[in-house]
Amino acid sequence: REELAMVQGALELRTKVVEDVLTPLADCFMLRADAVLDFATVSEILRSGYTRIPVYEGDRRDNITVTRFYRRPLHCVFNDTRLDTLLEEFKKGKSHLAIVQRVNNEGEGDPFYEVMGIVTLEDVIEEIIKSEILDE
Ligand code: ADP
Repeated sequence: REELAMVQGALELRTKVVEDVLTPLADCFMLRADAVLDFATVSEILRSGYTRIPVYEGDRRDNITVTRFYRRPLHCVFNDTRLDTLLEEFKKGKSHLAIVQRVNNEGEGDPFYEVMGIVTLEDVIEEIIKSEILDE
């Protein structure tokens, strides 16, 4: 039964999208690019418990620059990316954390990319495991 539930969870990756499982921007622990890694900041990082801390310049809704810090390209995905597609991207192994963007075409101005939050491999795995937990 557990296996069946997990297979069900895995199959559901085809119908769920990144937006369903992301960690919203408001809940993301991030640092400004000009933050000084002093005692207070390092303590805050350790207290947060996260192993990866996105870094942003200016506004965190549109300018995250993990790139220069880690010297590898920032992995971005759109909010409507299917979870099975995301899992395939994570399996390529470049990064297990992605920044989620959407196209904001509300309002008068031109559409623009807006950061909605972050998603990690764990969020995808949880979707597979969750159905098992819920079933019990
Ligand atoms: P970690 O390796 O830091 O424990 P995981 O990849 O295991 O992070 O993710 C655990 C959960 O925490 C996921 O729901 C993920 O979206 C969220 N998460 C990861 N990094 C951060 C962060 N910097 N701020 C807020 N939430 C985060």
